[in-house]
Amino acid sequence: MEDNFNIRKNNITAADREFERQLRPLNFIDFKGQRQIIDNLIVFVTAAKQRGESLDHVLLHGPPGLGKTTLATIISNELQVNLKVTSGPVLDKPGDLAGLLTNLQEGDVLFIDEIHRLSPVVEEYLYSAMEDFQIDIMIDKGPSARSVQLTLNNFTLIGATTRSGLLTSPLRARFGIKFHLEYYDHDVLTGIVKRSAGILNIRIDDEAAVEIAKRSRGTPRIANALLRRIRDFAQVKGTGHIDIEITKYGLKELNIDQHGLDEMDNKILSTIIDKFNGGPVGINTISTAVGEESGTIEEVYEPFLIKEGFLKRTPRGRETTEHAYRHLGKHFGRNLSGTLF
Ligand code: ADP
Repeated sequence: MEDNFNIRKNNITAADREFERQLRPLNFIDFKGQRQIIDNLIVFVTAAKQRGESLDHVLLHGPPGLGKTTLATIISNELQVNLKVTSGPVLDKPGDLAGLLTNLQEGDVLFIDEIHRLSPVVEEYLYSAMEDFQIDIMIDKGPSARSVQLTLNNFTLIGATTRSGLLTSPLRARFGIKFHLEYYDHDVLTGIVKRSAGILNIRIDDEAAVEIAKRSRGTPRIANALLRRIRDFAQVKGTGHIDIEITKYGLKELNIDQHGLDEMDNKILSTIIDKFNGGPVGINTISTAVGEESGTIEEVYEPFLIKEGFLKRTPRGRETTEHAYRHLGKHFGRNLSGTLF
């Protein structure tokens, strides 16, 4: 469970990053799922290339591990331009951003991960760069210090965020293309597991690939990480070949539950059931009870729990479903006044 949990929380080690790089699709054809987004992107990228212009700025929004960084890589490959990667918290001062922007060549892609974490001054500095491809920079110091306007090469900013609710509206308005990435269904994830197994030279049965996909919380990053762990079990405890038996054994050892829910998912559900009689309960109350920011619950955890039918959003707050009670092995019922007990 710990492994699964860490991956969700974006606590990725250098080894994880290298592993992900190996498996990252490099073109639209290899990127599985998210069909509508891909079809639209192919049109926008082709049109920009035909006109010889840079692509409009792109905002990608969705939970961690669904392919935002991968899409930025693919877009720059398909445009045949360079990709510069940075992230909101790294860009401390406008000067850091100016350094990056002035080094971009015509049409290049600048990818800013966690763009909702940009500081307000850096964000404001970005506005004129995005809109007019111009920035002001200070030259000289002391009494002779003055600001000069610099024209940049046209570029495409790709911003990625897990928390679109935290983006200011002026920033959001400067993106011409906005996409929300959805969780992947089991079929697509099975395809991703098989593709990764092929790249890593791992022999895996279809049934085993489906099982890993089902336990991956709709998330390619988790599917790939589970495949890596199950490969270890197959190598040490089995024959090296991943079949359904070793897969089930490994998943049990990793404490991955049947639906792939992680520690925080289960904590949210059991808290609503045990402390609030199954709800309805407000998001802020849940947040205090489980010790996680309400925005993170809303944008990272809750969408999957709702999609899988464990949780409902009602006007009076969040309610757990019968499915959640059954999943946690708890008794589901209603007393006479209609509240869950
Ligand atoms: P994000 O930036 O949204 O957190 P990433 O783009 O880093 O997610 O994706 C995490 C991992 O999942 C990468 O190794 C990538 O190979 C894999 N991945 C993500 N989306 C897909 C996809 N649609 N098809 C195949 N692999 C994918």
